[in-house]
Amino acid sequence: MQSRLKPILEILITKGNSQYGREAVSQLEHALQCATLAENDDRTPDLIAACLLHDLGHLLHDLGENVADRGLDDRHEYRAMPLLQTLFKPSVTEPIRLHVDAKRYLCAVGSTYWESLSPASKRSLKLQGGIFSAEAAASFIAQPYAKDAVQLRIWDDRAKVANLSTPDLEHFTPILVSCLT
Ligand code: FE
Repeated sequence: MQSRLKPILEILITKGNSQYGREAVSQLEHALQCATLAENDDRTPDLIAACLLHDLGHLLHDLGENVADRGLDDRHEYRAMPLLQTLFKPSVTEPIRLHVDAKRYLCAVGSTYWESLSPASKRSLKLQGGIFSAEAAASFIAQPYAKDAVQLRIWDDRAKVANLSTPDLEHFTPILVSCLT
């Protein structure tokens, strides 16, 4: 079972030490912090796995770090889909696919959410299509797994704490295994 996860674990181990955009944590630290927030909230293994893997797409391109600084959207929410969809159910992959749109949604419905975003996240928002209109927000949240994507997004925004200690990747591996199709 675990052999099917090997490509994903290898990416996280070999490329996860790269910086998470302009944030104070590495990609792997960010992933572990996000998954830990879900686990501490007693969420399903599927949602914990989604949190751990939500930014895998950032590690699957050669556009370099801080692509948003160059005015580019790396479309990371889609990049890992071909790989992830061969391994996991929609309950894992859909919150990942929708987590960028969840930011656009939260900006549209929450009066203080936009302000709370980090500078890097505000910059990438523009490149990702900007704040949803009321109509787009309503059709976004009506989709299956959109609420999970919103919850993932809230943890995503918090998972940027420098030098925070969390359980390691080995701790989360059995959870990933339990979510394999
Ligand atoms: Fe993220």
